[in-house]
Amino acid sequence: MPTTSSSCVYDCIVVGSGNAGSCAALSAKDSGCARVLIVDKCSPDWVGGNGYFTAGAHRTVHDGLHDLLPIVCNVEAGSNLASKIDMDPYTAADFTNDILRLGDGRSDPALVRTVVENSRETIQWLHDRVNMSFTFSFNRQAYLVDGRQKFWGGMVLSTEEGGKGVIAAHQAALKEAGIEVWFDTPVTELITEEAVILASGGYEASRALRGKYLGSEWEQAKVRGTPHNTGDGMTLAQAVGARLTGDFTGCHSTCWDFDAPDDTGDRQLSNQYTKSGYTLGIMINADGMRFVDEGEDFRNYTYAKFGKEVLKQPGGFAWQVWDSRTTPWLRKEEYSDDVVRKVWADSVEELAEKLAADGLWNTTQFLNTMKSYNDAVAAFSQESASTKWDPAVKDGLSTQSSAKQLLLPKSNWALPISSPPFLAVKITCGITFTFGGLAIDPETAGVLLDKTGKSIPGLFCTGELVGGLFYGNYPGGSGLTAGAVFGRKAGIEAGKVGQ
Ligand SMILES: Cc1cc2nc3c(=O)[nH]c(=O)nc-3n(C[C@H](O)[C@H](O)[C@H](O)COP(=O)(O)OP(=O)(O)OC[C@H]3O[C@@H](n4cnc5c(N)ncnc54)[C@H](O)[C@@H]3O)c2cc1C
Repeated sequence: MPTTSSSCVYDCIVVGSGNAGSCAALSAKDSGCARVLIVDKCSPDWVGGNGYFTAGAHRTVHDGLHDLLPIVCNVEAGSNLASKIDMDPYTAADFTNDILRLGDGRSDPALVRTVVENSRETIQWLHDRVNMSFTFSFNRQAYLVDGRQKFWGGMVLSTEEGGKGVIAAHQAALKEAGIEVWFDTPVTELITEEAVILASGGYEASRALRGKYLGSEWEQAKVRGTPHNTGDGMTLAQAVGARLTGDFTGCHSTCWDFDAPDDTGDRQLSNQYTKSGYTLGIMINADGMRFVDEGEDFRNYTYAKFGKEVLKQPGGFAWQVWDSRTTPWLRKEEYSDDVVRKVWADSVEELAEKLAADGLWNTTQFLNTMKSYNDAVAAFSQESASTKWDPAVKDGLSTQSSAKQLLLPKSNWALPISSPPFLAVKITCGITFTFGGLAIDPETAGVLLDKTGKSIPGLFCTGELVGGLFYGNYPGGSGLTAGAVFGRKAGIEAGKVGQ
């Protein structure tokens, strides 16, 4: 991609109109690049890449409620609501530890340090410069327990209108800054005369590359977001000698509506196809077996790896199952009647029969699984009567007692599933983004040459295309923050090119 055209000259060209690319473009403009251009291969109605499909969740280091109140628009300081919020600080050590422990210590520590140390300042920049409308994420990250909004899982910020709001804010800021966006413009070659910032996402929307790197079963995974992230950035950068790095056998994937489209996200329902209510119930496959510890950790520490587990099941699907105790706690945006196909039944036998018509082939095992789960829960509560169900903490309410243990435990939030009506929802695996990508300098976001490990002059990278940050799993809300952190850095460095 030349940074010149017959009619105009650009100081910086950004490839990709998502969150990371938009941050990079604005930062480049503010850092002295007089003319900045964003190019995207999508049509205008697909602007924003995966950023559009997000829930707008942003993970950041913070000092507790008082630190973030000034930047959120849904709670006022001193209000009655503010007085009912319990929100622990989330320290740099917490954030660092979350990325490292979920990645089994494989993440590049320098990349992690950069994201963590710049996270809070970058959130402030998004608020002040991009005019991002942050909210406290009551619906996703807090439970109302004993009259108090208790936040859990380290992540508290979302945005008004989720990802749609994120991209609308970026578009407005880019327009105001005079940054052009060319759509229907796929980049096919890199010729860096000035600065080029690659922000063209991962390869999750390419069946061929999923098959090549992740394994043939991944060809069947559904795409949760844009159909345009087909690994072009990797190919383009490799052609100029860039180094690949990171987890090429891993990706972010979630429990996803079985009835969602196959190869693309849906701009209307968007993230509502996510099905993250498994901590409130159990998941059972077509063999009638459970296959993960649904209560292993808070949802936002397990959801990004459970898609892979669903894909491994016979047929690549499963059901989430609840009873009347927990169905009222399911998130409306994911489980309301107009969003998902529900199977209701007045008994477990009836439920098994109905699911048999939809792919459950071992109803006997399904009933056995339900019974042994309920027996184990009952044995635990007999032994530990003082342990109370609390979805806002890891409550230790489990299937494991001295009297009875399951081979596959449910470690927290293990309520019986015995009170009709019963509800089941069919799920499959939705792929979000891929973890392997380009090696960058953590300070400058410069793309590294494979041969020397030195930065390629004028070439930078941010967002999903960066490799080495996440391995195997991912703490929810880190992608938008990481893309913004490296986008800002790339923009600042682009401003230095040619000076
Ligand atoms: C359903 C869903 C929910 C999510 N929720 C969250 C969340 O709440 N919080 C969070 O932190 N993360 C979330 N994520 C992850 C998040 O979307 C990404 O981490 C982040 O948006 C990546 O930004 P990006 O700019 O790198 O890529 P994208 O936003 O995907 O942008 C890449 C752009 O590059 C363009 N492109 C590709 N190839 C070319 C080419 N050859 N030429 C020109 N343009 C090209 C694409 O068309 C696309 O517009 C979610 C993702 C999905 C799919």
